[in-house]
Amino acid sequence: MREDFGFKPHDVFINIAVLSFDLSVYELMSFGAIGATLLLNSKTVSENPDLLMDRVQKYNGTIWVSTPSFSFIYSRIDEVSRLDSIRYFLFCGELLPHSLAKVLVEKFPKAIVYNTYGPTEATVATTMIEIDADILDKHPILPVGRSKPRSRILIDQDEIVIVGKNVSLGYLNRPDLNAEKFITIDGERAFKTGDQGYLEDDILFFKGRNDDQVKLHGFRIELNEITSVLNDLSFVLQGETIPLKRNGEVKKIVSLIQLKTGVDESKDWKAEILEGLNSKLPYYMIPSDFKFIDKMPLNQNGKADKKMLEQLYLAKS
Ligand code: AMP
Repeated sequence: MREDFGFKPHDVFINIAVLSFDLSVYELMSFGAIGATLLLNSKTVSENPDLLMDRVQKYNGTIWVSTPSFSFIYSRIDEVSRLDSIRYFLFCGELLPHSLAKVLVEKFPKAIVYNTYGPTEATVATTMIEIDADILDKHPILPVGRSKPRSRILIDQDEIVIVGKNVSLGYLNRPDLNAEKFITIDGERAFKTGDQGYLEDDILFFKGRNDDQVKLHGFRIELNEITSVLNDLSFVLQGETIPLKRNGEVKKIVSLIQLKTGVDESKDWKAEILEGLNSKLPYYMIPSDFKFIDKMPLNQNGKADKKMLEQLYLAKS
């Protein structure tokens, strides 16, 4: 952390992730090593944009670390000056929507936006990339970056494998899982992430989790790809796509969508969404139903809670 980002002793890390989420290691371990300041926030504060922005402003927070779901920024775009002290935005843990990164790059010209990627088993984040205007221009789906100097990324039959000392020794008391997920490559520890990806000029792109891929009517569908297109629609705050299964078999895929605040409620948003998806995706990837929700349910770690989404969908059907 000390070497990768150029943080300085005068930096103030803004803690947002709960301490049981490995993302919090970013700030909890780094601030001391750098001699910087840590702004700890209670769950009540970090879940309330107003309270959080107040604290960032009061204590001149400079380093924002969170999952992208956490970004309420679209709906508070008029208030970004309250976050003017921020010099770095670090995202990790979920797909970073192109539209969110674009807003941040435009609205915070003094700050650097990073997308970082990695699982807990390889010590928080293994790859990183600065998202600037050039990357935004080149990549409609943002890359997750290059591996940091002391580790390597390999792709084995589409699966992302992480090699290096940052890979954990294994799960406690789970020899079965360890045998399946932890391997040795050229004498080094390696972890099979269960994520799918590809490398382009040494830059890693994330395609989704192995289990995010579903088979419907014989077609292999990456749910993440649908979610990416949804999230880039100008009126969508956040969308998620989930499979509905019966007897273990996917019967249909549906999307749940939180619209941006202030959009005209009377408009036929379903039709707009269909038009947006149809222009970018093949017909078999179009979800068979859409439901609108007031607030995206997030799990403890600030990621979209898929189980809760399924319940919400069923309750609204
Ligand atoms: P966790 O161990 O809870 O931090 O979750 C790690 C998982 O989150 C990874 O294996 C990926 O599936 C996902 N993930 C992490 N970073 C990113 C990213 N930048 N973009 C997309 N997915 C990510």
